[in-house]
Amino acid sequence: MKAVRFIEGGKPPEVVDIARPEPGPGEILLKIGGAGVCHSDLHVLDGAVPFKGPFTLGHENAGWIEALGQGVEGWQEGDPVAVYGPWGCGQCHHCQTSAENYCERHASIPTMGGGLGSDGGMADYMIVPDSRLLVPLKGLDPSDVAPLSDAALTPYHAIKAAMPQLTPDATVLVIGVGGLGHMAVQILKATTGARIIAADIDAGKLDHARKLGADITIDSSDKTAADEIRDLVGGRGVAVALDFVGAQPTIDLAASVVGRDSRLSVVGLAGGVVKYSADNTPYGTQVTIPYWGTRAELMEVIALAESGRIKAQVEKHALADAPEVYDRLREGKVNGRAVLVP
Ligand code: NAD
Ligand code: ZN
Ligand code: ZN
Repeated sequence: MKAVRFIEGGKPPEVVDIARPEPGPGEILLKIGGAGVCHSDLHVLDGAVPFKGPFTLGHENAGWIEALGQGVEGWQEGDPVAVYGPWGCGQCHHCQTSAENYCERHASIPTMGGGLGSDGGMADYMIVPDSRLLVPLKGLDPSDVAPLSDAALTPYHAIKAAMPQLTPDATVLVIGVGGLGHMAVQILKATTGARIIAADIDAGKLDHARKLGADITIDSSDKTAADEIRDLVGGRGVAVALDFVGAQPTIDLAASVVGRDSRLSVVGLAGGVVKYSADNTPYGTQVTIPYWGTRAELMEVIALAESGRIKAQVEKHALADAPEVYDRLREGKVNGRAVLVP
């Protein structure tokens, strides 16, 4: 079968032929319907997040059950499922509460999940090591909804934790309206009454944000961006800032507009640093670095999609086109999420 492989940090991905895997005891063989192309893969390919290759990329996956390993019960071949991506030990306190994204044994586990240290979903088939990592999709088509498992789950987790501050009289700032950000705007619109300001450096992304429900858009490459936002929110400041870039300029922008008793959530992994101190952070600000989401939250995200309240904007490509798709993502040319469809 065809697979898109991470070789080593600093090298481009390679599309190669590898053997179709067989599910061992307790495992599930998934026929991939779609594998999302996440900006985190670019950090992995660049070597910014160290991994030992080779392995198949793709940590945002959905498909149909092709075969059940020995002992797997309660699932049927052909069932459409999303793969819960952050694979923990399954046994620690956090894993038991479905928050495998915060597994306490993460340092001793050889993979962060399929596509992040071991074989993922950018292939015709993928092995999922345990049925606890599957979530039923019911009426949704796996090739349309793979982004729910990361591009939507990650902002949903950050937004849910910020709910106490996302009141109808509050303002939320979304920085970066790409794969994650375009889902964040929709999730905020569907689940809160807060006023949404979306910021990006690309006019097309800002146009997209308005179509998805952002109340106001700001070109953050503009030097006046912080002043424009402060004029809009006045002394109260931004109640919740969600930074889906995480570079120094975006973190500095977010930190300069949040008010007292606010929340600054840095989701993007572009290497910026939050300068957190009494003289440059408003009193009461909660600074948080959320990671992915819980399995229970993935169920909630799927429910939002099933009822039509959120929808990933997807551009579909063949596995063979992966290198070009990654180039387009790096250049900021993907609108919504690119998904590889075998
Ligand atoms: P993407 O490439 O699809 O979107 C990034 C968006 O940010 C684009 O619209 C781009 O125009 C915009 N942008 C870039 N620089 C900007 C700037 N200086 N100011 C404003 N906007 C800017 O990326 P994505 O897949 O949505 O991922 C976003 C980030 O989130 C990546 O760093 C990724 O690694 C990270 N991520 C984190 C988690 C987590 O759990 N913490 C999960 C998934 C992804
Ligand atoms: Zn990701
Ligand atoms: Zn664990």
